[in-house]
Amino acid sequence: MSDTFLHGRTALVTGSTSGIGLAIAKGLAAAGAKVAINGLGSPEQIASAIAEVDAAGSGGTVHFGADLRDPAAIEAMMTELAGWSNGGIDILVNNAGIQHAVPLHEMPVAKWNDIIAINLSSAFHTMRLAMPAMAGRGYGRVVNIASVHGLVASKDKAPYVASKFGIVGLSKVAALEHAAQGNRDSGGVTVNCICPGWVETPLIEPQIEARMQGGSRNDGVRALLAEKQPSLRMTLPAEIAALAVFLCRREAHNITGTAMPVDGGWTAQ
Ligand code: NAD
Repeated sequence: MSDTFLHGRTALVTGSTSGIGLAIAKGLAAAGAKVAINGLGSPEQIASAIAEVDAAGSGGTVHFGADLRDPAAIEAMMTELAGWSNGGIDILVNNAGIQHAVPLHEMPVAKWNDIIAINLSSAFHTMRLAMPAMAGRGYGRVVNIASVHGLVASKDKAPYVASKFGIVGLSKVAALEHAAQGNRDSGGVTVNCICPGWVETPLIEPQIEARMQGGSRNDGVRALLAEKQPSLRMTLPAEIAALAVFLCRREAHNITGTAMPVDGGWTAQ
């Protein structure tokens, strides 16, 4: 990409050692931003994620290993980031998320706590710590990766759906509170959710495997899509990244408080 409109900007993408987050980190780097990644993984996986983001942009990628279940670890990360970014990041992408699909009465309490902490509470903490600097600067972008499950429910996903409806609501409140900050020239401070349907990443592998029924992985993918996603096509992580990068443009200053489905028609039904 030759349009480096984010040159001079800094970004944090949570959960970016894999999947959608890694693709967004690469997209922001390619658009010129200096990117901080976060997420779990082996040293090799983390080194490889840093190398991929460096290669997409012009280098300088840093990794923060904060476990997002721990508010104190998030605070420490945000304090370090304020120094790294000269006063506070310009772009915050809350992407980290986990899933566990079983009926409500079988849901382990520990899974409920982890899913709410990672998928929802971590975004509250990063936003409360990052948004004052954005407001002061008159430019800021918060892109929260919710899900189609922030707009409609499916069975067996109680904490996931609760967390995703929660992050859609949290984002709308933050959007309203920051709507009048900055101006058209500075780009304003916006907060939006992207709500993907099925995206080809490790997160959904257990759900594909559960539908293979002795057949191939492709059979599992087809069955998963047929249940909910009318396009019958998976979204690629880079396609979610393209939308996240667009939301960071100055021209997107009046797109705020939205929850945008990228779901092949799932929520149109
Ligand atoms: P993924 O499993 O590929 O990546 C998840 C990332 O979160 C990884 O980097 C992982 O290390 C990180 N993470 C997990 N627990 C963490 C913790 N405690 N602390 C810090 N980081 C942690 O998943 P993905 O599919 O790329 O999902 C990214 C986001 O997109 C999630 O919020 C997910 O709910 C959402 N989403 C995914 C799909 C899909 O079909 N894949 C659909 C809708 C929404």
